[in-house]
Amino acid sequence: MIDVHCHLTEHALASNLDQVLEEARKTGITHLITSGTSYEDDLRVLEVADNKYVSASLGLMPYYNEDPEKVVELIKVSRDKIVAVGEVGLDYYLGNAGDRERQIKVFTLMIETARDLDLPLVIHSRSAGKYAIDLLIKHGVEKAVMHAFDGSVGHAMRGAEKGYFFSIPPSVIRSEQKQKLVKRLKLENLLLESDAPSLGPEKGVINHPKNIALSAQFIARLKNISLDKVVEATTESALHLFKINR
Ligand SMILES: [Zn+2]
Repeated sequence: MIDVHCHLTEHALASNLDQVLEEARKTGITHLITSGTSYEDDLRVLEVADNKYVSASLGLMPYYNEDPEKVVELIKVSRDKIVAVGEVGLDYYLGNAGDRERQIKVFTLMIETARDLDLPLVIHSRSAGKYAIDLLIKHGVEKAVMHAFDGSVGHAMRGAEKGYFFSIPPSVIRSEQKQKLVKRLKLENLLLESDAPSLGPEKGVINHPKNIALSAQFIARLKNISLDKVVEATTESALHLFKINR
C-alpha cells in the first residue's frame, strides 16, 4: 500500500517518526508521500523525505496568507527531489468570502507551476469541491489527486471523467459522504491516504499512516471486491502517477 498524503512533519508524528515509519512498514505500507503546508513546513518536508521510503510534495495551504512566490521558488529549485505540488487548493470553509479571490489566484499559480514542472497536484478542497474541480478543468490539468474530497458525488464524477484521483482517508469508516464517493467512483480513480495526524478512524484521535489499511479494507467491503484487488489497483495508480520507483 502507498500512503499518498500524510504530514510526517506535524509534531504528533515527527516526535516519534522512527516508530511511525516502523509501524507503517509492518502494516505493509511500501511508500509514503508527505505533504508540506507552508514555506517552513516545506523545508521540513524536504528534510524528512529520503526519496526511498518517503517522498516529498511541497505546497501551501489555501488559508495560509503567505507569499506564494516564495513557495513556488522552493518548488522549482526542489523539482528533482519532489513527486508532486501540494497540498494546495481552495478552502471556502475557513477562508471568508473576501479571501476567495486571493485563494483562486494562489491556486492558479500552483496549477501553472505543476504544469510547467510536469508534476501532479495534491489538492485540498474544503467546502469548495465544485470550484476546485472547475478550476482544474478550466486549466486543462491532467494529473491531480483530490485529497479527502468533501464535495458531492456529481462533482467528483466530473473530475473522475478527466482522470483525476480521489484519495480516501481512514475517516471513510465514519463518513457517509466518503462512503458514497467510494461506491460511485471506479476503483481506477481511487488512492489511499492517511492525512495523518488528521482524519483518522476515530474523530479527534491522532491518526497514523498505518491506518490506510483500514481505508483499503473499507473500500473492499463497500465495492464488494477483494482486499488484494484494492491494494493492487491503488498501489499501481500511485506508482504510475507519482513516478515512484519500486
Ligand atoms: Zn493534508
